[in-house]
Amino acid sequence: MISRALAAALALAFPSVAAAQQTPPAKPTLVVQITIDQLRPDYLDKWAPQFTGGLKRLLQQGAFFTQAYHEHATTETAPGHATLWSGRTPAHTNIVINDLGVADAQMPLLLGRGGGASPWRFRGSALFDWIRARDQFSRALSVSRKDRGAILPLGKAKQQVYWYGLDGRFTTSRYYADTLPTWVQQFNARDLGAQYLGKTWTPLLADTAYPEKDSVAYEHEGKDIAFPHTLGTDRRRGLDSLTSFPWMDEFTVDMALAGVQAMDLGKGPTTDVLAVSLSTTDAVGHAWGPDSKELHDQVLRVDRALGRLIDSLYTLRDSSRIVFALGADHGVTPYPEATFSGSDPERGRVDVRPVIDAARSALVARGLETDALNYQDKMLMVDRRRFAAAGIDADSTIESVRAALLKLPGMAAVYRVRDLPRLSATDKIARRWRNALPDDMQVALAITFKPGYYVATTRYATHGMPYDLDAHIPVLFMGPGVKPGRYTTPIRSVDVAPTLAELAQVMPFESIDGRVLTQALVTVPRAAARPKDQMKGSRR
Ligand SMILES: [Zn+2]
Repeated sequence: MISRALAAALALAFPSVAAAQQTPPAKPTLVVQITIDQLRPDYLDKWAPQFTGGLKRLLQQGAFFTQAYHEHATTETAPGHATLWSGRTPAHTNIVINDLGVADAQMPLLLGRGGGASPWRFRGSALFDWIRARDQFSRALSVSRKDRGAILPLGKAKQQVYWYGLDGRFTTSRYYADTLPTWVQQFNARDLGAQYLGKTWTPLLADTAYPEKDSVAYEHEGKDIAFPHTLGTDRRRGLDSLTSFPWMDEFTVDMALAGVQAMDLGKGPTTDVLAVSLSTTDAVGHAWGPDSKELHDQVLRVDRALGRLIDSLYTLRDSSRIVFALGADHGVTPYPEATFSGSDPERGRVDVRPVIDAARSALVARGLETDALNYQDKMLMVDRRRFAAAGIDADSTIESVRAALLKLPGMAAVYRVRDLPRLSATDKIARRWRNALPDDMQVALAITFKPGYYVATTRYATHGMPYDLDAHIPVLFMGPGVKPGRYTTPIRSVDVAPTLAELAQVMPFESIDGRVLTQALVTVPRAAARPKDQMKGSRR
């Protein structure tokens, strides 16, 4: 044995010896995947001085990528979660929009309200699969208020996956289990949601801490627009409405921590996974908008909830063996009322329905059923087989719909999906559409409004557009192996999973779209030693 002082002297004299001694940190025993639903990165800079909890710790001790983007057009919850933790775009995960997400009538819930759910549409693998390929005894717990927020971070893995059943209890579906484990039954029996019934949400800090106007007429459909906000005392309705209050995130953190203890998660020697998706920021952002006092207060409360999560994990387990990554599934665009001046209540909104309805009526008149032409979430899907069977030229129908859509005020572009590969090289929005659509999805047209425009009839603030307000997200890493700092080079959301895999010292076993963010890592990634052809995530 040589002394530390001698080793240091040797290291100075012989740099190659120092390099050889630089061993990677011990394999983590817990990988924590945090998703904050609808968190925009500008919130972190705007309100950093008011953070005292988890966001403060992540900003101070972690690596913050300030220019991270979802490179897919459909900026919704399901595709965001699937992409963040698989390193693959929706074109490859097959999770394209919420409505084609996790709903699965064949996998009913064990309890609670809501439709059945499973990852049946999800294609390929996710981070947890790569970990379990090394550590066969690794286990994972995923918790969220939303089914898609709990299911998709683990891909198809049949682990412990729970979401809120809207009745005060956490639930899962038959895909994962036939009965709830004892610890979940005991957690549900504590009835923690009931403590919030009749409670009033008031701002966390003094009024001077919030520059936002509290009373804005178009917020929350004109009702309950200003603090304080009270959760009703009626049990059934109150436990349902809890989803729009900051306490839902506290409840989700309680569930995650109960699971960590009950499952002995992160005790080693294997690497386990904890996935937590906090959904209230999305609910509050939708209801009151990104510029509201409510949203500002909600983000301060997310900071506190995350602080409790991280502090508790550090108390329960060895903090030198836990790695964290935080991302968001999407951002949000302000209310059109805030973006466009005037008094027209329909301003900043695009109504495509008359165009679609007219096209369908014309087809019906020619003997084709209406669902051969399907409009969903800014996509026009065409069943070419049925067009052919009816002797109708699909392409001429598509072209006439496209021409009519382009005439609508507020329309920016209507892409022919077959043109997207060609346009992707120079057009960022075309590229984001290409990354969103699987080859076999039969989408003919990808419809894009001008920046700031909403779908007609939408009366809450929302997201889902391919522009940066919805696509720009915060990405942070923290823990052993992470080089703290502020990183301003542009990165993509598909880079999160491979980077976290590198920190967990595993590698994807399939070709992925993202790359390891080596600039934020202490050690040279093992991926760099791989042959070049294996490194490249090929575009399938
Ligand atoms: Zn949302």
